[in-house]
This record gives sequence, structure tokens and C-alpha cells, in this order.
Amino acid sequence: MERSYNFNAGPAALPLDVLKKAQSELTNFKNSGMSVMELSHRSKEYEEVHNRAQQLLRELLNIPENYEVLFLQGGASLQFTMVPINFLGNGNGSYVLTGSWSKKALKEAEKIGKTTIAATSEQTNFDRIPKLNELSIDDNASYVHITSNNTIYGTQWQAFPTVENLIADMSSDILCRPLDVSKFKLIYAGAQKNLGPSGVTVVIADKNFLEKGADNLPTMLDYRTHSKNNSLFNTPPTFAIYMLSLVLEWLKDQGGTEKIQETNNQKASLLYNVIDESNGFYNGHAQKDSRSIMNVTFTLPSDDLTKQFLAESKELGFVGLNGHRSIGGCRASIYNAVPLESVEKLSEFMISFQKKA
Ligand code: PMP
Repeated sequence: MERSYNFNAGPAALPLDVLKKAQSELTNFKNSGMSVMELSHRSKEYEEVHNRAQQLLRELLNIPENYEVLFLQGGASLQFTMVPINFLGNGNGSYVLTGSWSKKALKEAEKIGKTTIAATSEQTNFDRIPKLNELSIDDNASYVHITSNNTIYGTQWQAFPTVENLIADMSSDILCRPLDVSKFKLIYAGAQKNLGPSGVTVVIADKNFLEKGADNLPTMLDYRTHSKNNSLFNTPPTFAIYMLSLVLEWLKDQGGTEKIQETNNQKASLLYNVIDESNGFYNGHAQKDSRSIMNVTFTLPSDDLTKQFLAESKELGFVGLNGHRSIGGCRASIYNAVPLESVEKLSEFMISFQKKA
């Protein structure tokens, strides 16, 4: 088999057409006589790639004019620090805890200043997104931080709260559906799930909000450094940004976020239907109204059956179905680029595995 059924959580599957396009341009990008990796980041050819990626993101997410689109490094994890260091000030960072990544974000903010927990679903092992009316936001909140999709637990916000200064980690679901960017002051996402390869982190932020950041920050940690320099203050991850531009071109060809949402719903339903019709053989971790269309998490009746399921699936070419080490069980990550066919094959395998067990 040439391509696996890749359900990795991130880095994750990329569209085959994107890989082929990159391959065809690898040694001689647009008659430059070199690969994108070998171009100067100050060259005209690279500048076009960089600006095209920004423009495509603007188009696909309908990003308002008064928002910046930045390409940073350090992964989403560095954003856990950059957000509070820029915006915490003398107020409270208000965090909604919906899984391991939001806890990590909170932990970094605690090192910078004051924080509060606006809501948490930790009591039930992060099996749900808190209801909007459960959020308790401090009067003195500098911002409210949420994680739109919880990669490990398989939960996803279905509607976003209307609060001031909302900031979201969208690493594992950006571009999986249409989005009203204007509800947020800042959105960040590591690329290695829905956007491209690892190495670049996309930040979308309200320009006025960025201007309110703290003074005298280390240069590289100050968002304004990057916004003033079109994310070219230092050498950006040029190849990752090139791959991002190809993934965005591909998404546009697929019909954009509305179309991809339909396909994503279809893919997720295939797996959730198998879970729901299994008479409890497969047990979904997430409560139904919090289910993610990107990461489907489930357990089997015993550890032995889980091991057998993973071993047999591996034989058949399925990759990445083991759950995160912190919760065990199984997880199928079905990001935008995971073909419907892979998900159909997985649902068929799940049904036949249960019949045999
Ligand atoms: N936030 C979320 C929701 C994630 O899924 C991940 C990575 N799996 C991170 C943050 C951390 O991203 P990075 O490895 O790019 O720092």
C-alpha cells in the first residue's frame, strides 16, 4: 500500500495532492533554479509565497481588515507564554479548563501574573465543554482563554461565548468549519493538524488589541515586532509557510470552510454512529453535545480488547488509533485532510471487530 490510513493526532495527514505538488516543485520552484527551502526569505519569490498564504487565510476565514495574520515559531506552546506576557497586565487571565492543553496554557500564565478559572470540566475527566452560562468571568479579567477543540479528550466548543477579549487556542480545529473571527481578539494555532507541517504557528489578532500589549517585552515575544515586520523580523519557517499555502489552496479548491465542514460532519458521524449503535461495546469519551468532529475518542470493554483492536488495525494499515497516553483507549483524529475513504474503512473495521469479539 502506498499511503496508510493515517489517523495521527498531529503531525497529521496532509492532502496527497499537496504532497505531490510540493514534490513537483521541490528542486526547481517556479523556475528559480532552487527549492523554496533554498530561497532567501527576502526574495521576491518567497515574498509571494508568504503573502499568498496570508491572503488565502484571510479569504478562507473571512478575516476582517482590522486583524493581523502572523506566522510565528515556537508552536502553540509558546503562545501559552506570549498571550499572558503581552496581555495579562495587572488584571486576571481567565481560563476555561477543558483539557490538558488549556491546563498547560493556564500553568504558563500563572508564572506571569494573576489568573482565575472561569469554568472547568475536570471533575468529569474533561468529557464536556462547560455550558456558556457556567462561565464565571472575573470583573478584572484581562482576557478569557479557551481551547476550541480538545485534541486529547475529543471535545469541541459548538458555540463560542460572547465575552470581552476572547482568546482561543484553535490548534486542532482551525478551518474545520466557518468561523466568526470578530468574536475573538486573538486566535492561535500550531499548523501540524489542519494547516500543514509543524514549524509555523498562525496567529490572527485584532490590531488594536495587539497595540495594547505590555511595554519592554523581549523583542521576539512582543507581537508588535512581528506585526510591524509582516512576520519577517527574523527568518520565518519558509518551507512550512510554503506548505501552508499549498494546504490553503487545496482547501479553497475543496470549496472552503462550509464545504469542508459538511465532509467533516459526514466523517465524524460515521464513527459516532458506530459507537452509538454498538450497544456499549465502544464507549465514546465525550458527552454527545460536546463531541469533536476532529478527534473521536472511545474505549473498548477491556484493555485486552483495546490491545487486540490496535494490533489488528495496524495490520490493516491503520495508523495512530491509540489514545493519548494520559487517557488511554482509542482516538481517531480526522482532520480536514483525512480522506472520507479512510474513515469509511475505519468504521467498517470497527463493526467487523465488534462482530468477531
Ligand atoms: N494546543 C492544542 C489544542 C494542541 O492539540 C497542541 C498539540 N497537540 C498544542 C496546543 C501544543 O502545540 P505545539 O506542539 O505546537 O506547541
